[in-house]
Amino acid sequence: MLLSELSIEIWTISPKGHSLSGRKRELRLEAVYGGGFAATRLRAMELITILNRCYRFRGFVYQHAHFSADKKSIEVAVRPRKGSAAVCSRCHLAAPGYDQLAERRFEFIPLWGFLVFLLYTMRRVDCRRCGVVAVEEVPWGDGKRTLTKAYMLFLARWARRLSWKETAEASRTSWDKVFDAVEHVVTWGLEHRTLGQIDTIGVDEIQYSKGHKYLTLVYQIDPGVTRLLWIGKERTIESFPGFFTTMGEEITSKIVFICSDMWEPT
Ligand SMILES: [Zn+2]
Repeated sequence: MLLSELSIEIWTISPKGHSLSGRKRELRLEAVYGGGFAATRLRAMELITILNRCYRFRGFVYQHAHFSADKKSIEVAVRPRKGSAAVCSRCHLAAPGYDQLAERRFEFIPLWGFLVFLLYTMRRVDCRRCGVVAVEEVPWGDGKRTLTKAYMLFLARWARRLSWKETAEASRTSWDKVFDAVEHVVTWGLEHRTLGQIDTIGVDEIQYSKGHKYLTLVYQIDPGVTRLLWIGKERTIESFPGFFTTMGEEITSKIVFICSDMWEPT
């Protein structure tokens, strides 16, 4: 799909306000600038070209983009690059192929009101190192999560500025997806960043799913550093020990203050 198909309205409004059809405008530009100008310009707007520019994945190619049957979303087919081996999701190394699973849909950052999905048929590998048949690891996804990493990062960034509910509404997505995104980013952070000294933590318990479920959120609230450190999927009293285990004694033993406005859960 050409992005110009979506933006044809924008492209065809001339500065004086009268509009030209896409091809007519192309011809007009060709007449003014010589053949090739419009074609080059329009080709440069191809959706796949843009994706290759901002989210290129080694070992995979974007095949083509099209509208879904209901025209509400854009689907981008992805396939492995010829000759590139699948990567085992357990040991993160290339392994020989075994078979293929059903096609999966990974939600990408929406574009101009259209939902965007990457469609990909997951491969399984026969990994001798791990001694199992395992599903492959794909660079845009995180295990079973249905959102792409790019979209999770996008949502999680907004969720730092707005409430999760507001983020969901503004992005026309669900609270659960925003939660998934935040959890992914927090988990990634725990695995990849150095935490340093933490003096004060704030503990927040929230109800969700019509009040039937609880989450415990632990923030670092030191001067100049406010960040979500950890998410527990139960009420605080049950999940709190998990926070100390995950963080490790070296960090938790130095915590001086714990702030919480909760009453004792019964
Ligand atoms: Zn493996």
